[in-house]
Amino acid sequence: MIQENLDPSDMKSSVFDMAVEQFNAAADVLNLEEGMRQVLSSCKREFTVNFPVVMDNGKVQVFTGHRVQHNMTRGPAKGGIRFHPDVSLDEVKALASWMTWKCAVTNLPYGGGKGGVTCTPRSMSLGEMERLTRRFATEISPLIGSYSDIPAPDVNTDGQTMAWMMDTISMHKGFTEMGIVTGKPIDIGGSLGRTEATGRGVMITAREAAKHIGLNLNGATVVVQGFGNVGYWAAHLLQELGCKIIAASDSGGAISRPSGLDSTELLKQKNSTGTVSGFANCDVITNEELLETSCDILVPAALEQQITGNNASRINTKIIVEGANGPTTPEADKILTDKGTVIIPDILANAGGVVVSYFEWVQNLQRFFWEKDVVDNSLDSILTRSFNEVFSTSQQYKVDMRTAAMVNAIDRVATATNIRGIYP
Ligand code: GLU
Repeated sequence: MIQENLDPSDMKSSVFDMAVEQFNAAADVLNLEEGMRQVLSSCKREFTVNFPVVMDNGKVQVFTGHRVQHNMTRGPAKGGIRFHPDVSLDEVKALASWMTWKCAVTNLPYGGGKGGVTCTPRSMSLGEMERLTRRFATEISPLIGSYSDIPAPDVNTDGQTMAWMMDTISMHKGFTEMGIVTGKPIDIGGSLGRTEATGRGVMITAREAAKHIGLNLNGATVVVQGFGNVGYWAAHLLQELGCKIIAASDSGGAISRPSGLDSTELLKQKNSTGTVSGFANCDVITNEELLETSCDILVPAALEQQITGNNASRINTKIIVEGANGPTTPEADKILTDKGTVIIPDILANAGGVVVSYFEWVQNLQRFFWEKDVVDNSLDSILTRSFNEVFSTSQQYKVDMRTAAMVNAIDRVATATNIRGIYP
C-alpha cells in the first residue's frame, strides 16, 4: 500500500472536502452566486448498497458499495468503478464530482458519476471477484443504463470487470446492452485504443505543457508513481517521445535507475511477479524518495493525496502530470505553484480515458466501429484543444492550471444549468 509509507500526520483527510475546496477556488474566480455554488458542489444522488457474496470457502460475506451521480445536467453520469479497501462514500463523492468537471473541461456530453466497493481484490479469487461484480451490478442496476449512468474501469477493475457487468445487466434485460459500460474488451464492443487512452492523454498533455515551458522531451527525465495501466502507458508513450523513465513504483515498492528503465521490460517483470519491485539493476527506494526524485516530469498515477503540505516543498520537478485523481492536496498545490512547478490537473491530464470511453459509447449506440487511428487522432485533438483552452484561461485570470480547468468546466455546467432552469 502506498499510504503505508506516509507519516501519520499525512493521513487522508476528507477527499470530498478537498474537491469542494478546489471547486470554491474556481467559483470565486467566476463570481458564482451562492445558489449555483450549492447546486454544483452537491452530489445529485448518493446510493449505498450492502450485499452478500458467497466466498470460495462457502461462507457468506457482506460488502458495501456506492454509486454516486454528482451532476447530470450536461448528459448521463459517466465514471468508473473502483475496488479497493479504502473505498468510502466520501471518496466516491469526490471522484464523482471530478468526473463532472473532467467531462465538462473536455466538452463531452456527460455529467459525472463514480462507484466503488470496499474490498481487497488482491486477496480474492477470480470467482469471488466475478460474483462480487455481478451482484454489485445488480444492486446498482436501478441507476445505471446507456442513457442514464455509464460505468467504466478504475482502480483494480478492468475489461473483464466491465464484461461481467455488461453481461449481468444484459441477462436481466434479455438482450445485449453494449452501451451500459465502457472499457469493455474489443470482442464485445470495446473500442480500439481504450486500454491505453488514459496514459496516452497523460503523454499528450505533458507534451503540450513541455511546449509551453520550452522543455525538450528528448532525454527529459520522468518519474512514475503507480505503474498500473495508466502509469505503464504514460511511461511507454513518453519513452516513445524520447523521455527517460528514471524511477517507478507500485503497491509492492519503488525502484530507481538514473540511466533509464525500459517500460516494456518493466511491464514484463510486473506481469510475471505482480510488482515492479525486484527489477534488475535498480536501487530500491521508498515512496517518499520516489516522489522527491529530481526529474523533469513527475506522473503521480496511484491514489489521492500523495503530494501534500508535508512533502511538496521537497518535490523537485518541472511538470506534474496527474494520472491519478486527486493526488495533490490544495496545500501542496499552493507550495508547488509558488515554486513555479506546472501542475496539469487530473481533470485534464487523465481525461484521455473518459474521452475514449465516450468514443466507445458512441460506437456502441451507432453499431459502427472506428479504426484505431481515428480514435487516437480524435483523442489527441480533443485533449490538445482542451489543454489550450485551459492554458488561455489560466493566462486570462492569472490562475494556476487546476483553477483554470475548473473555471472552464464550472462555466460550462453553470451555463447549462441556467439555460435549462431549475425544475419545477
Ligand atoms: N475511471 C476513469 C477516470 O477516472 C475513466 C472513467 C470513464 O471512462 O468513464 O476518468
